[in-house]
Amino acid sequence: MSLRSRLTTAFLVVVLGPVLVGAVFVAAIMSHLADSRGSELADSAATMVDSTLGTICDRIQGSAAAVALNHRSGGAGDAVEMAELVVDRAVVDGVVFSSLEHADASSSAAVGARAPEGAWIDCGAEPVQSVGEPIVALGSQALVENADGTTSVFTAFRVVDQDFLAGIADAADAELVLQDGRGRQLSAGSVDAGRWAFTDAFLPLRIGTASTDITPMYWTLAAMVAASAVCAVGLAAWLSRSTTRPLAELSAAAERVSDGDLDVRVPVHGSDEVAHLALAFNRMTAQTQAYVQALTASRDQMRGQLGRLGQTLTATLDLDRILEVILDTAMVTTNAEAGIIMLVDVDDTDQLKQRAGEGELGLAEPASVRIGEGIIGAIASTGMPAHGRIYDGKFGSWRRAATEPDAQTIIAVPFSGRQAVEAEQPGARRAWPDEDPTRTELGVLGVLVLYDRVAGQDFEDGDVETLKTFAGQVAVAVENVLLHRQAQRLSLTDPLTGMWNYRFMQTSLRREAERARRFQRPSALLAIDLDLFKAVNDTHGHPVGDQVLVELSRRITGQIREVDLAFRHGGEEFMVLLPETDAAGAAVVAERLGRAVSGRPFKVSDADGGLELRITVSVGIAVLGDHADTASAVIAAADEALYAAKAAGRDTWRIATA
Ligand code: GH3
Ligand code: MG
Ligand code: MG
Repeated sequence: MSLRSRLTTAFLVVVLGPVLVGAVFVAAIMSHLADSRGSELADSAATMVDSTLGTICDRIQGSAAAVALNHRSGGAGDAVEMAELVVDRAVVDGVVFSSLEHADASSSAAVGARAPEGAWIDCGAEPVQSVGEPIVALGSQALVENADGTTSVFTAFRVVDQDFLAGIADAADAELVLQDGRGRQLSAGSVDAGRWAFTDAFLPLRIGTASTDITPMYWTLAAMVAASAVCAVGLAAWLSRSTTRPLAELSAAAERVSDGDLDVRVPVHGSDEVAHLALAFNRMTAQTQAYVQALTASRDQMRGQLGRLGQTLTATLDLDRILEVILDTAMVTTNAEAGIIMLVDVDDTDQLKQRAGEGELGLAEPASVRIGEGIIGAIASTGMPAHGRIYDGKFGSWRRAATEPDAQTIIAVPFSGRQAVEAEQPGARRAWPDEDPTRTELGVLGVLVLYDRVAGQDFEDGDVETLKTFAGQVAVAVENVLLHRQAQRLSLTDPLTGMWNYRFMQTSLRREAERARRFQRPSALLAIDLDLFKAVNDTHGHPVGDQVLVELSRRITGQIREVDLAFRHGGEEFMVLLPETDAAGAAVVAERLGRAVSGRPFKVSDADGGLELRITVSVGIAVLGDHADTASAVIAAADEALYAAKAAGRDTWRIATA
């Protein structure tokens, strides 16, 4: 059963119930009142009939007496006169004269109507309830003793007929139905009289009074009940409709919201509770819509950011670019206002240095902190993520270092790596952390730190999980870049000496030749060859020869500038590229190199123990721009000069001829 029909039914029961009960009650009272009024009418009709009959009888008696009196005083003539008078005046219908004793002598005479045959009622007699036959007249006798001893009898009478009865009915001012004592109909009139009464008078009559017809009142009552029923039904329909319509609208709107349509609003009617509910619903939907829009926007932003991150990760090995994008994405994801990525310094593995930074960090220089010091350093040393508020420069029991950013809130996730972190320079044998085979546990590689969530909110545990993902990406990115560098370095260096190999020499020389040609700047190339090295191998064995080669490369590297490049050309021949150096400068280097080699004996060891070898080198010098313009030509020229040095007796240098 719907709410609407329940409301309608309840209203109808509440309103129509009392109306119906009241109507029944009123009908009962009406019927009772009609009943008692009928009784009253019947009673009063009987009284009226009684008194009317009494009056009529009085007048009949009076007429008879008056006629008798006139007869006594004035004789028969006066008696007749009087009789005619009372008949004329319709006091009685007729007067009968008779002599009781001389019935034959004084023939009875009459004035007025003829005396009817049948049962008479004497007005002076006791009342009778029932007579055997129909009563035809009401009469009264007056006797006069005549002087002659006779008695004259004067009988005045009224004929009891329809007219008489109608007269009584008129006088009683009631619609009468008269019956004699046996129930015979005496007068015309409605026989369905509602009430019957009996007169106490001598004329035995049943008096019927017309019943009060209350049927029209019943109809009126029924009409009123019907009218109120119609009104009640209409009102109930309106009430239930006006009550349930806003609810139906609300429920339809809620349905649409649950289907994802957040544009829906419900109309607000009036200012009742349902209207308040509708207003609240509209507000709620609008707010939800705003939230969804904000979420969608931030999801789109995040999507874009993740796309950028993915692209960056796959497309570039530029570590700084990768870290910048990861940091951006982490900040967008957690709504942080600032952030930095700190990496362990390659030169000092106890030091964390800022490698990427975004937002207002409040630092003049890139952040740096020792592991274990400051807030970031302390978090790094625990290796565990942390988040919370910084009060008075303190985060828990850790105090902020001056060289790290300042903020209200912080979230930091340390990350670790497996791969060796090596210095940019090949040959620099620094390693961290796994290059030391005894060190097996993971070391901290860096820390991803974010500061101050937008709108002053605190970071949450969920953010730690999010940042762990990004920190993992940072670790992978750093490792990838380092691995790539390592692979690159391995492909370009000589495994025995760690010097650049022949391939890298080709590349470097081509680039340098181009540079020298474009800028008209000299670059010198030294070709270095060990003197009589075959003998060393033959005498002491190949491994000793290798030790000599390693020591020689060390001595060469020790004699050149940072911008100079040293290559192992192959076998026991080396080349050194000296940018921005002319023939004279190269000769100085060659001289210095020769002395560095020949000046001290090479300490090597063979199966029998350590030994010292005296080693010399010959050097050929060629200059790009002076002796050749291309990589291969300058190599050939330097080789030629080297041969010249060999030919000149070894342990010396020669410059190529133009
Ligand atoms: P020269 O003064 O004329 O240069 O005499 P040399 O004996 O040095 O002659 P050459 O330059 O032709 O010597 C080549 C020798 O270098 C041959 C080989 O025994 C030695 N050699 C080449 N590569 C290596 C290497 O990788 N290790 C060792 N131990 N010896 C090598
Ligand atoms: Mg050689
Ligand atoms: Mg040689």
